[in-house]
Amino acid sequence: MKTYQLTVLSGDGIGPEVVDVALDVLSVASKQANIQFDVTEKLMGGCAFEKTGHPLPQDTLDACLESDAVLLGAVGGPKWDELPHEKKPEQALLGLRKALGLFSNLRPAKVYDALVDASSLKSEIVRGSDVMVVRELTGGIYFSEPRGMDDSKGWNTLAYEKEEVDRIACVAFELAQKRNGRLTSVHKANVLESSQFWRECVNRIHGDYPDVSLSEMYVDNAAMQLVRDPRQFDVIVTQNLFGDILSDIAAMITGSLGMLPSASMGKKYAMYEPVHGSAPEIAGTNQANPIATIGSIAMMLEYTFNEPESAQRINRAIDQVLKDGYRTKDIASKDSIIVSTSEMRNHIIENLKQDETSIIEMVRTSYEE
Ligand code: NAD
Repeated sequence: MKTYQLTVLSGDGIGPEVVDVALDVLSVASKQANIQFDVTEKLMGGCAFEKTGHPLPQDTLDACLESDAVLLGAVGGPKWDELPHEKKPEQALLGLRKALGLFSNLRPAKVYDALVDASSLKSEIVRGSDVMVVRELTGGIYFSEPRGMDDSKGWNTLAYEKEEVDRIACVAFELAQKRNGRLTSVHKANVLESSQFWRECVNRIHGDYPDVSLSEMYVDNAAMQLVRDPRQFDVIVTQNLFGDILSDIAAMITGSLGMLPSASMGKKYAMYEPVHGSAPEIAGTNQANPIATIGSIAMMLEYTFNEPESAQRINRAIDQVLKDGYRTKDIASKDSIIVSTSEMRNHIIENLKQDETSIIEMVRTSYEE
């Protein structure tokens, strides 16, 4: 049986609650897939600051650098808002992404049929939409030099190197191959030279992925199209700043922060985390929605451990529980059955186990036939 190293950073607020549930789901899923995880739990964020005086202690970083994947809950909270910049829990997140070389951020926004009414958009517009935004995470205007401000102006630089665009384009083309074979490259090449360069790089890389259909869109149009007709998109690839904005727009198509998983990947390392924050006002009340973190586990099984069937089983279990009407408070509607974090866990695990039983029964039936 294959054993993988997983570093778990539960973090602050609802982080530990949703991570605990996700690990329970992983335990069932890994047995089904006949793989094993060696889990190391480490401190990061406000809880790490409390114990060690630093939000990203060296031994946390070392554990992450030695693992096959990292699972993060969420960090931060009002308690640490007044700390100096470098001690803030959110800084630990940036430091960790940088240390692990996580240059791509994958944010799927899938609308579950059962939750179609949770979106602020009309249900006929969002039903069936399933968009993956691939955002470049370590370059572009957030990092390029020179940058600064004085009394009379503030300035930033937007620059992309060939290697930076090529590697994110490869990630996006490969994802499109695994999904529905369509990639939209979003830029602003009518105004920005850096976008003209981006376009040239993506077009050249397309030569290596002839089975993917590539289209282009200006970022202003993409923002509009995402809310006008999100179903037209499969995978979107874009630079850091545009991705920051478009992934939040795509997220809101689904209408619920508690449902959105994410992955950040580099050449060697990968980190999986829910999109939401630490929701301090509901921490410790057994109300948090664990689905985004469970979905992040599914992404991890698919992308890092190449277990797509296991990921699909988890996603089917989530789908079924929602169809059965169970909802945590944040996604509840008029006819739903409101459940706690731990009840949601139990329903998802029960469905996951049933999925396994039905596969065994299917195999047995076909054998008997
Ligand atoms: P948030 O995502 O924590 O909460 C926004 C709203 O969504 C709140 O009403 C919250 O109760 C609700 N919510 C979020 N996740 C939920 C879940 N799983 N189940 C049910 N309801 C959920 O964002 P915020 O309030 O802006 O930030 C709170 C703290 O989290 C801040 O300190 C912020 O810096 C931090 N934060 C951390 C991350 C991260 O760790 N990646 C991301 C965003 C914010």
